This record gives sequence, structure tokens and C-alpha cells, in this order.
Amino acid sequence: MHELSIMQSVLESLSEEVKNRGGGRITEVTLSVGQASGVNTEALEFAFEALRPSSLLNNAQLTILTPPLLARCEDCGHEFEPPELSLACPQCGGTGLVLSGRELLIERFVLEQED
Ligand SMILES: [Zn+2]
Repeated sequence: MHELSIMQSVLESLSEEVKNRGGGRITEVTLSVGQASGVNTEALEFAFEALRPSSLLNNAQLTILTPPLLARCEDCGHEFEPPELSLACPQCGGTGLVLSGRELLIERFVLEQED
């Protein structure tokens, strides 16, 4: 399962961050999963539930944002949401560069210091 390994690497980077900040407890995590990233957010939530009991996310609240695919035309600068796999600019027919929508990143997380 693809999403399980994604969630595992998210966990790894989070525990690295927690270590760098001198420990604590994560209470909230927000992930940004682009609509064109190929990741199934339901499966990702399932993976989160499966992994959390034995992890530092045990008490964390998960939020998943799904930004749409967004591209900017190299020729005229027009920004648009490309349908499916076509990146042609609807305004001039030029080539669009993907700005967002394929990302998978940790948007933010809240760390609570333990006493
Ligand atoms: Zn254009």
C-alpha cells in the first residue's frame, strides 16, 4: 500500500523535527496533498489511523488539504486549472508549467511541550 509508506515517511520527518526542537507531543498535523499527486487521501487517513497508536501522532489531529492542480502558461502568464493531463494554455495554446497540485508535504504541525 503506497499511502502507508507515504505516511511512514511523514512520521519519520515529523519525529526528526520533534527531536530537533527538543521533544514534545504533536497535537495537530496538516498535510497538503495535491489533487494531481496520485495519492488517495482516504487511504492516507486510514494509514494515519493504523500508524498512530504506536507513534508520536498518538494524540494528534490530522487535517488533509487538497489543493487543485494549477498551472501557469509560459507564454502569456495566464494561470489556469488544467483538465486531466493537458497543460495547454486555454488562452493562447502555450505550454503551462505546474505551479501546485502535485505536492505532498507537511503544511504545518503543532508541537506541545511536555512538562
Ligand atoms: Zn497562454
